[in-house]
Amino acid sequence: MFFKRLEMHGFKSFADPVVIEFDKGITCVVGPNGSGKSNISDAIRWVLGEQSPKMLRGGRMDDVIFAGTSNRKSRGMAEVSLVIDNSDGSLDIEFSEVVITRRMYRSGESEYAINGSQCRLKDIRDLITDTGIGVDGYSLIGQGKISEIISNKTQSIKEIF
Ligand code: ATP
Repeated sequence: MFFKRLEMHGFKSFADPVVIEFDKGITCVVGPNGSGKSNISDAIRWVLGEQSPKMLRGGRMDDVIFAGTSNRKSRGMAEVSLVIDNSDGSLDIEFSEVVITRRMYRSGESEYAINGSQCRLKDIRDLITDTGIGVDGYSLIGQGKISEIISNKTQSIKEIF
């Protein structure tokens, strides 16, 4: 199992649709400060079901929706899809390619889908549980978190291992 592609539309700084293709192995995202690198990992965390705005570096959940700029209107919806290669069957579902989608409207309404069929957050949680890609594990570690872990008491380092 590996991530094949991330599609974002209206998520944080990605007002227009953006598609990021991942190769097998390591993908590096390079750019100046504030260009949106961490917003990409936030998008992965969000689509996998993150419920804490703080973990997404925001104050409220609707902070993930493109807020507009001086010359660009805000958007009413954020949508992220993560395309996962499941040809090795790691995910317990009869598809060799699995697309997890999350949408959120300014009204606060959220929608989730697996391969285009609307589902509950629980269905996504159940699908990725025990695969190591969930938001509760340590497969997604944000920039700030690393320094927090390293500069913190030995206990938090111990907790990780
Ligand atoms: P650094 O290297 O400093 O960590 P970065 O490249 O990781 O930066 P991010 O923190 O991902 O950058 O992106 C921050 C940018 O995203 C800021 O310019 C911020 O204004 C923009 N941004 C965040 N949320 C939204 C939103 N809801 N609408 C529009 N822009 C947003």
